[in-house]
Amino acid sequence: MEKILEVDNLHVTFTTYGGTVKAVRGVNFDLYKGETLAIVGESGCGKSVTSNAIMRLIPDPPGKISNGIIKFKGRELTKLSEKEMRSIRGVDISMIFQDPMTALNPTLTIGSQLMEGLRQHHTISRDQAKKKAFEMMDLVGIPNPEERLKQYPHQFSGGMRQRIVIAMALICEPELLIADEPTTALDVTIQAQILELFGKIQEQTGVSIILITHDLGVVAKIADRIAVMYAGKIIEVGTKREIFYHTQHPYTKGLLKSVPRLDLQGEKLVPIDGTPPDLFSPPIGCPFTARCPLAMEVCDKVYPNSSQLSDTHEVDCWLQDERAKQLLAATATK
Ligand code: SF4
Ligand code: MG
Repeated sequence: MEKILEVDNLHVTFTTYGGTVKAVRGVNFDLYKGETLAIVGESGCGKSVTSNAIMRLIPDPPGKISNGIIKFKGRELTKLSEKEMRSIRGVDISMIFQDPMTALNPTLTIGSQLMEGLRQHHTISRDQAKKKAFEMMDLVGIPNPEERLKQYPHQFSGGMRQRIVIAMALICEPELLIADEPTTALDVTIQAQILELFGKIQEQTGVSIILITHDLGVVAKIADRIAVMYAGKIIEVGTKREIFYHTQHPYTKGLLKSVPRLDLQGEKLVPIDGTPPDLFSPPIGCPFTARCPLAMEVCDKVYPNSSQLSDTHEVDCWLQDERAKQLLAATATK
């Protein structure tokens, strides 16, 4: 499978009056053509910062990509100028956010906004742009494009507006779409429709998707693989099956118990006690130690190695770390 994106040892910091926040602390992942990777975690875990870093949208200052590599189709994005990045954003990589209104201009018709995006980056005639806009309206499931394109954002419902934003993100045929909490602002039925739409779009266009969410329910529908983030790190990554049914990390287990699941109806929801660590001075060991029911002495002293459980499943936890067995053996013989 063709690798579209490689993120290697990404670190992002924010300098504030109170000190430096280490928001992303050594994130690694790959993304393949046509796949959906979900990045899941509580708010503040670094998932949005990771996606903004890929788009090079970290405001510098106060933010900074302090280390790491982000390769998109072999091109090192962290080395590109802002001008070069502008030719990639919206064309090769597009992003959509939670609130569609922030992406839409209330004073312009949907048609002119759709076509403007296209004509900014490509020299094409008005007629060709209009044809493409019609195709996009069809792709995202908005009927009567002739009339609808003449209307303004306020004339659409929230769900329809998110469809328009998706159409705008896709009109230049990007190879990567990053969606940051794209359904969080919508009610449950509309959420389901938008998620279905992502699946359909992927089938038709082959676009790779990074879906950022705090909601594992959303992920269950459309993700191929899931990366779970905690305190600026990916602590477990695997296929959807591995994460849901062969869960290894105590934090992932906690997350799964704290959200409603269609396949486990009637199970009691249990919130995870405690709060994530302060990222001004993150712990040197496992950042979940203070909340982990299985924490051992070594956990807050040394960060666990990443253990490869299958080709696709990887976890950072001392319970899987080979060195733990040696430590136990050593203590036993003392
Ligand atoms: Fe819990 Fe230790 Fe694993 Fe961290 S490394 S999740 S504290 S068992
Ligand atoms: Mg966020």
